Parts: sequence; structure tokens; C-alpha cells
Amino acid sequence: MERTFIAIKPDGVQRGLISEIISRFECKGYKLVAIKILVPSKEFAQKHYHNLKERPFFNGLCEFLSSGPVMAMVWEGEGVIKYGRKLIGATDPQKSEPGTIRGDLAVVVERNIIHGSDGPETAKDEINLWFKPDDLV
Ligand code: ATP
Ligand code: MG
Repeated sequence: MERTFIAIKPDGVQRGLISEIISRFECKGYKLVAIKILVPSKEFAQKHYHNLKERPFFNGLCEFLSSGPVMAMVWEGEGVIKYGRKLIGATDPQKSEPGTIRGDLAVVVERNIIHGSDGPETAKDEINLWFKPDDLV
């Protein structure tokens, strides 16, 4: 069954949005198969966002991801990679539709509260980066 990596970023955790975000995935019908809370190192954040390393915001993004607790999760279900991104909404919360997580709960792109894998290859790589095979039920 298809799986994706979802992370609630430090701003989402700090703002107390964990249960709200989990419930949107649960209510849709997806299944939580791994979850842990951790503070990633900056080096780890750089690995996670390695495909953005040429972008001007890369350093600030990695500093931010490593600035506090992150809730890392793996969700499973039919079409969860693509539809999970739909639940999350556009990268820039100014452009996310109401009804999406970022559209309802975030305002600026630097603090968009949640990450979701953008395709099958990245989902596999990100799950392997954040979790050991035994962590998944
Ligand atoms: P994510 O990978 O976090 O799920 P995304 O796939 O919607 O987000 P990406 O293009 O992968 O968007 O960008 C990764 C993250 O980098 C964004 O979630 C956002 O926090 C940050 N970001 C993207 N574009 C900008 C920008 N122009 N200025 C500042 N930060 C940005
Ligand atoms: Mg992305």
C-alpha cells in the first residue's frame, strides 16, 4: 500500500496544531503507520531538504526545521502521496485554498507548518531517512 512522509514543522508543534493536523489525515481515511517527535539537527535538515540546496532560502529553512520539535509521521492509503499534498495545500499559505491545512492554519511561506513528500521516490527516500523499517507498523 502507498505510503508518504508527513512532518509537522516546529511552528505547527509550537502552536499546538498536532491533533488538528493528525485528525485531518485520520478523518480522510488514511492510516498512521509510524510517528515520533524529535528535534532534528541542522545537518539532518540539510539532508531532508537536499534538493533545495541551491535556493536562497535553504539555510534559513534548515535552521528553522532544526529549531524545535518536529512530529515525523508515515501515513498509508490509496493515493496518499498526491492527496496528502492536496490536504496540505499550496506551499505559500497566501495561495492555499481555504479548507486545506495551510490555507486554514498558516499565513506565510517560511512558517507553513507542515511538510509532505512530493512524489513516490521522495516518499521512499524521506521515510528511509526519518525512520527505521522496524518503526513502521
Ligand atoms: P514541503 O517540502 O515543506 O512540503 P513544498 O513541497 O510545498 O513544501 P518546497 O518547494 O519543497 O515546497 O519547499 C520546501 C519548503 O521551503 C516550503 O515548505 C517552505 O517552508 C520553504 N520555502 C519554499 N519556497 C520558499 C520561499 N520562496 N521563501 C522562503 N521559504 C520557502
Ligand atoms: Mg517539498
